[in-house]
Amino acid sequence: MPVPFIGRRFRPSEFEAYLKTLAFTYFQPEFVTLHHTGAPSLATRPDGLTDQHLQNLLNYYQNELGWSGAPHLFVDDREDGIIVFQRLDKRGVHAVSFNRNSWGIEMLGEYDSEEFNSGRGAKVRDNSVKAIALLNKRIAASPESLRFHRDDPQTTKTCPGLKVQKADIVARVANAMKTSPPPDMVSNTVPWKVFLSTGLEIRLVHMVGGRPTCRIKELLTLLRPNGTFTLNSNKTKVTWKTSTGNIKVINVAQIDEKGSPWGFLKEIADVARYRYEITGNRITLTKI
Ligand SMILES: [Zn+2]
Repeated sequence: MPVPFIGRRFRPSEFEAYLKTLAFTYFQPEFVTLHHTGAPSLATRPDGLTDQHLQNLLNYYQNELGWSGAPHLFVDDREDGIIVFQRLDKRGVHAVSFNRNSWGIEMLGEYDSEEFNSGRGAKVRDNSVKAIALLNKRIAASPESLRFHRDDPQTTKTCPGLKVQKADIVARVANAMKTSPPPDMVSNTVPWKVFLSTGLEIRLVHMVGGRPTCRIKELLTLLRPNGTFTLNSNKTKVTWKTSTGNIKVINVAQIDEKGSPWGFLKEIADVARYRYEITGNRITLTKI
């Protein structure tokens, strides 16, 4: 079967209208998976992706690789930089573990080395954020549902590039969707500090989508020692068996470069039965 090629460019406002015309009956996407093209890079495509480039990509996926699907969108730095490459209402091919239930977006660029937060890279970023926000809105998905290709346990790629940070993109998508932030979302600009009520500081904390997160296993082992931990196969949930044999499930906010799952601090405090209090720029966890 051929790739269901479309090859049409959209400005963000046009893309929103286009999405309204589609129905998702056979393919039911639940989130967006973000990629970078790597090759071609921004440097090798000074004017973005031309119609000929799109035809070349189609030929590559369909005839060289023999695939019947491809990434759904390509995004470049032009004003009409949201390119529907293949039908959005058909399953695509872009990330082994995520093809079944996600759209794949390819950002033009090589973001292990090319700049993502200035110049043409920033334009690609902004177009991508708008596209993700509109896709999420269409299927009522949350900003933090976004996956990176490198979150796929079945790849060793750095895709969408080491210069692309999940927390930053999720925060931008949330802003574009004008959603109310999750209840434990805090300002990114304040240096937050997290302490146990005993005075011990928890140092390994960072923000994902503006919410404090930490390594699930490390924190829970500190709060409630001697449990065991199992990460599910698609790396979205950790099952924690407490020392007394209770089973609790914690959502994964992000997988770090070493493969360790991080979870939202508030959720970890809740399952460990610790009170979570914010005073100024200080979060205190107190055993209930
Ligand atoms: Zn990728």
